[in-house]
Amino acid sequence: MYDYDLVVVGSANADLVIGVERRPAAGETVLGSDLAVHPGGKGANQAVAAARLGARTALVARVGDDPHGRLLLDSLSSSGVDTAAVAAGGAPTGVALITVDPSGDNSIVVSPGANGRLTPEDARAVADRVLRPAPVVSAQLEIPLETVTEVVRLLAPGTRFVLNPSPPRELPAGLLAACDPLIVNEHEARVIAGDGALGDGPEEWARALLALGPRSVVVTLGARGAVTAEAGGDVTRVPSVRVDAMDTTGAGDAFTAALAWRLGLGESLPVAAAYAARVGAVAVTREGAQASYPTAEEVAAL
Ligand code: ADP
Repeated sequence: MYDYDLVVVGSANADLVIGVERRPAAGETVLGSDLAVHPGGKGANQAVAAARLGARTALVARVGDDPHGRLLLDSLSSSGVDTAAVAAGGAPTGVALITVDPSGDNSIVVSPGANGRLTPEDARAVADRVLRPAPVVSAQLEIPLETVTEVVRLLAPGTRFVLNPSPPRELPAGLLAACDPLIVNEHEARVIAGDGALGDGPEEWARALLALGPRSVVVTLGARGAVTAEAGGDVTRVPSVRVDAMDTTGAGDAFTAALAWRLGLGESLPVAAAYAARVGAVAVTREGAQASYPTAEEVAAL
């Protein structure tokens, strides 16, 4: 019996959003809307998504000892995420400065802040209490890569490791080999496999990624669903659910969290991915990232 259903290791950011008529050019000042501040960051998003579905979820992260950090801790706690392994201090909370124009195009500057100070030592400090009592641990790359590789080294033998390599970069072979699955969208697939190495359709992309060493791969395709592939097994197309998409922010994080949780419950990769696609579909029908994440009842009602 595990203490958690899912442990997420990753980033927590305050998203500071201003609507503008036109995004400013170099040297230019433009006036915008009132400032909106939303809890975000891929780690916090995943943790909130899983907890909202009913998963017993803990987040391993670092925020600043500041108002943005408290906003994030409040949002996590009120969604039911265990925040005992969220350290505070060392640097300001990570921030994403976002300007968005009427067509929905945005410009984003990220200050990693405390996320960049989440060290391998931080991971070691919570290994026995949080990482090892988890059936599944999920990570992304908005924290130092060396911390992610240390997390993998610390896992109990039976713990499954799920990675969404975002923002994408070349990955060490040892980290790739631990991923079960590696979850990527098309852009991430191209960076990780190297452009030109992917082949024609998403099934080919999944096979090309699998050849790099992960135990399994999921390629997400937005409104076109996803493809799963397992070493020595099948490549499966996961259909999407047809919905009126309104805001796709954070859909990938909800998909990843739901998939990781369902794998931990013992579902097969294609079955877990089909559930995750339903979660992603509900999330895109609503505004925002964390605010858009459904409960299990809402997924069932889709
Ligand atoms: P990312 O945000 O990482 O690029 P995707 O956009 O591929 O991820 O979204 C993740 C998953 O969410 C998709 O695989 C799909 O199941 C679901 N999803 C995303 N956009 C839509 C959409 N417009 N309609 C239905 N499902 C969607």
